[in-house]
Amino acid sequence: MWGERTFQAFREAARQALSDGQIQQALRGATGRFREERVHALQDLPDADGLRDRLKAIRAATLARLAEHLTTFERNATAAGARVHWARDGAEAIAIILALAKERQVRTVAKSKSMTAEEINLNPALEAEGIRTVETDLGEWIVQLAQEHPTHIIAPAIHKTREQVAALFSEVAGEPLPPDNIPALTATARRLLRDVFLTADMGITGVNIAVAETGSIVLVTNEGNGRMVTTLPRVHVAIMGVEKVVPTWEEAAVWLQLLARSATGQPLSIYTSILTGPARAEDPDGPEEMHIIILDNGRSRLVGTEYEEVLQCIRCGACLNVCPVYRKVGGQTYGSPYSGPIGAVVTPLLFGLDRYFALPHASTLCGACLEVCPVRIDLPRMLLSLRRDVAERGLLPARDRKLEQGIAWLMRHPRLYRWVMRGVRLLQRPFVREGRLHLPAPLHFAAGRDVPALAPRSFMELWRATEQQHADGSPSM
Ligand code: SF4
Repeated sequence: MWGERTFQAFREAARQALSDGQIQQALRGATGRFREERVHALQDLPDADGLRDRLKAIRAATLARLAEHLTTFERNATAAGARVHWARDGAEAIAIILALAKERQVRTVAKSKSMTAEEINLNPALEAEGIRTVETDLGEWIVQLAQEHPTHIIAPAIHKTREQVAALFSEVAGEPLPPDNIPALTATARRLLRDVFLTADMGITGVNIAVAETGSIVLVTNEGNGRMVTTLPRVHVAIMGVEKVVPTWEEAAVWLQLLARSATGQPLSIYTSILTGPARAEDPDGPEEMHIIILDNGRSRLVGTEYEEVLQCIRCGACLNVCPVYRKVGGQTYGSPYSGPIGAVVTPLLFGLDRYFALPHASTLCGACLEVCPVRIDLPRMLLSLRRDVAERGLLPARDRKLEQGIAWLMRHPRLYRWVMRGVRLLQRPFVREGRLHLPAPLHFAAGRDVPALAPRSFMELWRATEQQHADGSPSM
């Protein structure tokens, strides 16, 4: 469930995920597949690294003139017949959508996958007003039926087994569905959701990219639901974060070349839809009205700060798939729509460090996220800065504060530090097997993970030995 993540809350949620064998298996399988596919997809590009540098430059340059590009986008989207709304926060965005729905007597909303809608908790707000709201992305629909939240930016239901999905679908279909017949399960979903598409008065989507020069929005999906949601209901509402804009199609093309490759390893997703205004007189289908909500929700206050870089994120999910913490604890543990390394940075920045101060610590700082990020976002740097902010604001629990103060003190006394480490190396001996530490259960920090043992000789000792050998004229090690 969404909610604050103190150290205790994070540890408790992590413990639950670690003890759930099914979640562990699902995470291993899904993240492993995405990782491999991404590597192959980038190998097919003639200059993947060059393209990543270009995307980084594009995102940085666009953020430097964000207001100008958003204004151009608004002007051109309006000229194309769309109506653009500005929302300072989630409450304003919800108020705009509810007003639109009430004025048009909307009874059913068909939704396509949107992290921004998750971020503002849109579904409960619509349901509270008696508006039936149905997720139509298969994974999102599964978690909606299970009354849960998505656990991965691009694969919301990776934690669900086919047995669990079959049970959920059987209940809504009113007939038993066998878990081993996947085509029958998807056919059931298609049949039930088709009715939603045909009866919905309003379709709500997110926005992957907004192109200022034509006022168009781009939707990247792997299921046909995005097209149904944007063409069948008479009103289409798209919600976009302010950072999703690019000046021209040239920049959008670079973004598109890297998005699906980094996310799922596809050269492009199955559907890339470009929408410019509502249906025109000559169009065979499409909505009568198109509304675009440009949502800030704390983003613009990051511009010009040491955290601005996080706004360059294109929400591909690649950093989740390589993160040793996410791969063990899964998305539910983060208590936020955004999980993994990007979630550990963006969640406290958007929703408050005082509510999510455990998340910047949910990282080994191994740097794998930076290595795979198509925009080369330096998440480890920002995680460290957020840890500093947590300490400066006095948010660390007393036990952790004392432990960190003790380590800091020790590191400022190198001679003592070396003696202590020698002692630890001796003490660890009974617990080392094949280079890994296997600590007894009461040492909670070792539960659920395999800790490498301290090397027999420290870097300093090796360095000194090498220097000595050079000085003696003997061959180096
Ligand atoms: S931080 Fe990078 S890797 Fe992670 S979701 Fe954003 S763009 Fe993808």
